[in-house]
Amino acid sequence: MCETGDLERHFDAVVLGAGPAGEVAAGRLGEAGLAVAVVEAELIGGECSYWACMPSKALLRPAEVLQEVGRVPGVSAVGLDPAAVLDRRDEVIHTLDDSSQVPWLEDRGVTVVRGRGKLDGERRVVVADDVLVAGRAVVVATGSTSLMPPIPGLAESRPWTNREATTAREVPPSLLILGGGVVGVELAQAWASLGSRVMVVEGGPCLLSREEPFVGEQVAEALQALGVEIRAGVHAVAASRGEGGEARLELDDGTSAGGGELIVAVGRRPATGGIGLETIGLEPGKPLEVGNDLRSPAHPWLYAIGDVNGRAQLTHMGKYHGRLAADAILGKNVSIRSDGQLSPRVIFTDPQVAAVGHTLVSAREAGLSARAVDVETSATAGASFVGRNAPGTSRLVIDEDRLIVVGATFAGFETAEWLHAATIAVVGEVPLDTLWHAVPSFPTRSEIWLRLLESYGL
Ligand SMILES: Cc1cc2nc3c(=O)[nH]c(=O)nc-3n(C[C@H](O)[C@H](O)[C@H](O)COP(=O)(O)OP(=O)(O)OC[C@H]3O[C@@H](n4cnc5c(N)ncnc54)[C@H](O)[C@@H]3O)c2cc1C
Repeated sequence: MCETGDLERHFDAVVLGAGPAGEVAAGRLGEAGLAVAVVEAELIGGECSYWACMPSKALLRPAEVLQEVGRVPGVSAVGLDPAAVLDRRDEVIHTLDDSSQVPWLEDRGVTVVRGRGKLDGERRVVVADDVLVAGRAVVVATGSTSLMPPIPGLAESRPWTNREATTAREVPPSLLILGGGVVGVELAQAWASLGSRVMVVEGGPCLLSREEPFVGEQVAEALQALGVEIRAGVHAVAASRGEGGEARLELDDGTSAGGGELIVAVGRRPATGGIGLETIGLEPGKPLEVGNDLRSPAHPWLYAIGDVNGRAQLTHMGKYHGRLAADAILGKNVSIRSDGQLSPRVIFTDPQVAAVGHTLVSAREAGLSARAVDVETSATAGASFVGRNAPGTSRLVIDEDRLIVVGATFAGFETAEWLHAATIAVVGEVPLDTLWHAVPSFPTRSEIWLRLLESYGL
């Protein structure tokens, strides 16, 4: 870093936003010896560490353990202690203090600049009076914010976004959740397991409609077993908060729904407003478009990684973008190979859902000659010991022209750790007759791969 005047500081690269994507890019560039500044308006670690992935998983895990104990004969557990669960959640999110995340950046020589930054013309970022000039690249990693649909009365009804919903200090007696996607179902299960009375309102015909149809059905069954009410196929047309303090949604079938708190979980909006895009001729308010090299087609010095580029709103994909963008800035030829549907995804409910690549429907829509094979997720000897009686379906989607797996979905007890094997098969386009020789150990639940390949006829 070099200071050329009172207010200008020069770096090789300036990263805007220190969520998972920005941290990874800045750290990798710093490790390679570049002078790097990362600008953060709130907490180092971003949405994921404090208000998204980490707290939601901390809220879900205790009930999952309890379920597991219930499935293994000879073990018993007393139950959940909600106050202790919330305390542990607070530990996981470091009570919203990011001081433990700063050394990782500093150890890599990265300069941390606190404040809200914005572009100010080519290769310049301003943070209050501070002007940071980037010799090689500016990397935008500003993430996303919760989407508020334009429903009359919604803003006035003081809804919770993911932030309040993941950091609440007490278990809300009742909750109305608008949106039955991943965030909606995870929060529904977490709070219902801790004692809330929960209703989920979903406009689509079923929960989790982007995944295989059995996913939404099986997660809905589990939620209903916890007492969650699901209203699918109805849209909210108005919202209010009554004098008694209850939030209400008017629905387009003429009915209404109420709850002590209302969580809005209908998607995320890339955070491209107020970051100075107009100073370089780009339009704020929509995803910051980049090519497969994560670089803006309009400005070769500008990169966008993570949620802000709208390609895949998942932490691990943002970190992947961060590694690739750093490599590109370091002079390597890079190109995204995993994107969109190829992104591995996990829904941390019980049953857990782990999926990568196509569903049968999306494969056929993409013009592939696709066939699906299904087996019960518990169809292995290994399942007798772990997660006995745990329901769920596992599916491979096979491209019958190329004889490779183009999609995998596992619903059932603790399937997340299976996902990377499937990701290797799908991203690596491993031929089925090679997969057949990849022998899973006995008695592990990975023998599910044998059951699936046998079902295909191998
Ligand atoms: C409830 C919930 C649960 C989730 N669970 C998972 C999960 O289990 N697994 C998973 O993979 N994904 C999950 N996600 C998605 C995940 O949180 C995001 O994909 C991830 O946080 C994106 O990382 P990012 O670095 O792109 O952005 P963010 O994490 O949003 O970080 C962006 C950072 O930029 C900063 N910033 C913004 N504007 C400026 C500015 N002008 N100047 C300086 N700093 C700025 C912000 O303060 C923030 O710290 C979940 C999301 C939600 C809402």
